Amino acid sequence: MPVVDNIVDKLAEILGISSEILEKKIERTVKIMNYRGINYAVIREDLGGYREGTTVFLEEEKIVHGYPSIRRLAFLESVPMHMIDEIIVEEKLNGYNVRVVDADKKVLAITRGGYVCPYTTARIEKMYGDRIKEALSEYEDVVLTGEVIGTENPYVAYEYPEADGFDYFVFDVMKNGELTPLSFRDEIVGKYGLKLVPVLARIGKNELGRLREIVDELDKRGREGIVIKDPMHRVPPLKYTTIYINIKDIEEGMKYPFDEGRSYLFTRIIRLICQVYEYSLGNKELDNIALRLGRAILKPAVESLRERSMGRLVAATYRLVFPSEDDLRDYLEFLEELGVDAVVKIIGAGERGVEVELMKLKDTHGYYSKILETGYSPLD
Ligand code: ATP
Ligand code: MG
Repeated sequence: MPVVDNIVDKLAEILGISSEILEKKIERTVKIMNYRGINYAVIREDLGGYREGTTVFLEEEKIVHGYPSIRRLAFLESVPMHMIDEIIVEEKLNGYNVRVVDADKKVLAITRGGYVCPYTTARIEKMYGDRIKEALSEYEDVVLTGEVIGTENPYVAYEYPEADGFDYFVFDVMKNGELTPLSFRDEIVGKYGLKLVPVLARIGKNELGRLREIVDELDKRGREGIVIKDPMHRVPPLKYTTIYINIKDIEEGMKYPFDEGRSYLFTRIIRLICQVYEYSLGNKELDNIALRLGRAILKPAVESLRERSMGRLVAATYRLVFPSEDDLRDYLEFLEELGVDAVVKIIGAGERGVEVELMKLKDTHGYYSKILETGYSPLD
């Protein structure tokens, strides 16, 4: 494994910041990682003008900037305030953000946080490796940005018929940390047979009726929402999610009240408040949402408490398929390096690779155990 001497100096030089400043912050802000002999630094919080989630490949001296955060709209009616003239309405897919780059002649998949994920890398390499390699050698310094969706991943398992377990849909192309015009993205995706996130409409920013129709249609289909973009990215994009997913997130999160449950509840309720207000929903519709919301809060939480009382683990379970045993080994090392509390069970090996069940233990497990043992409520 190649050792990088003087990591602080090297990183400071690549980032163009002073070694003294970096030295003070490195412990907290930077994590040095290695994937198959490639050393890289993960910027864990904004540092010297670099976004959280930026990855720096140390040997190649390559910076892969973090994907910018997208502002959430409270009201669809506010779109004209923030956009210029024409807008592109894209579907917002409910998976996880993955930047794909080439480093050291390998195709690598980087998560939102800036880590090369060995699992995602292996799956994308197997599906699109050759095409992506060609694309990235024609278009230098380009970073593909997209969403991995489907049920076979260790982050956001959500069923999409078009994903067949695992797939990658490009939604942006970045260059030097900037989002590029959508026509450039379409050109690359088209030329190399990659998949593009669904583009739902190209309309004027004042066509609010049409926008509302699109959101209602997605809501009926149980889809997450939309991202609204300027065709040239002259102004930052906006996101907006459906009532369906706002409630569904609570239902998922409340399987673990002391983990996701806690943070999901308030954010999603605020979204719903704005929706009931903007859509001027009447009492009947309000009752319907209130019942769904109430169930989403209580049912999964009680179910997992019942499970715990019967001695079962409160853990999130994921089904993964590793193309090879090496990929599995790399992923297990990765989990260990990040200190993730997980149990891995090998289900079997077949044509598609090694099938694995991954269980991530939740804090709720401990809280529930304590409640059941002591009879005390953990909160007043
Ligand atoms: P943040 O609020 O920082 O953007 P988050 O993790 O809370 O991050 P989300 O609420 O899921 O993110 O919304 C932003 C994310 O939506 C993007 O980072 C991207 O992964 C995902 N996404 C899905 N579809 C699209 C799309 N068509 N265009 C852009 N992003 C998309
Ligand atoms: Mg998301």
